[in-house]
Amino acid sequence: MSINEPKLRVRPVRAFADNYIWLIDAPANPGLAVVVDPGEAAPVLAELRRSGQSLAAILLTHHHPDHIGGVAGLLGEAPVPVFGPDDARIPNLSRKLGEGDLIELPKLGLHFQTLFVPGHTLSHIAFFGHGALFCGDTLFSAGCGRLFEGTATQMSASLRRLSNLPAETCVYAGHEYTAANLDFALSIDPGNRAASDYRARVAALRANDVPSLPSTIELENLVNPFLRCDDAAIRAAAAAHSGTRLTDPASVFAELRTWKDGFR
Ligand SMILES: [Zn+2]
Repeated sequence: MSINEPKLRVRPVRAFADNYIWLIDAPANPGLAVVVDPGEAAPVLAELRRSGQSLAAILLTHHHPDHIGGVAGLLGEAPVPVFGPDDARIPNLSRKLGEGDLIELPKLGLHFQTLFVPGHTLSHIAFFGHGALFCGDTLFSAGCGRLFEGTATQMSASLRRLSNLPAETCVYAGHEYTAANLDFALSIDPGNRAASDYRARVAALRANDVPSLPSTIELENLVNPFLRCDDAAIRAAAAAHSGTRLTDPASVFAELRTWKDGFR
């Protein structure tokens, strides 16, 4: 990413209980938009009608129905290219993507790099470009996706890659889970001032029904326990919870993930 590259204009379309479908304005043609993870078609079509834009492409991070369920309905309205991971469970793909693949959309003024980030599912990818990360259910603000298919080691490596992206990268995740994630984060790392300040900001936003996203990599590296598995306080909390010595960040991650799965 070049320093002078303009930031993307991105807005959320809400779907289901807590999904965000992301709409990206095409920098080279404001009448066009790209959609990320359309779990439903109707709210996307309604937003495009409202904004007077046409859909130009669909990006998919993983095969779960709440991320791809709207693709057929959108294609019924306009035949646009569909980019997603190489996974037979995803129909209608125009191009199957893997690690390092580039998506070049010159007529839209958009380009993204594909990051292969398995863990939540085995074929999960993320899109990185223009200072923005579209990471589906891999990284959430102050949390991460559940391990439905992958291993803790895979997910831990995937999250490490995302945490090493430029600090100012805007993080567009697939769900509004931030408040509940911060409750867990602060329960295991109560002295984390950045996390408690963030929880107050998020509570104010959510009280007004404003999305907490996007986050940034800089903020996630401060508040997200799943990106902080080599932090002494996090490691000590995970070790105390497991009752064993945890010697490496991947086993700290595994303990945190199991702990969070049962956290209410
Ligand atoms: Zn998912």
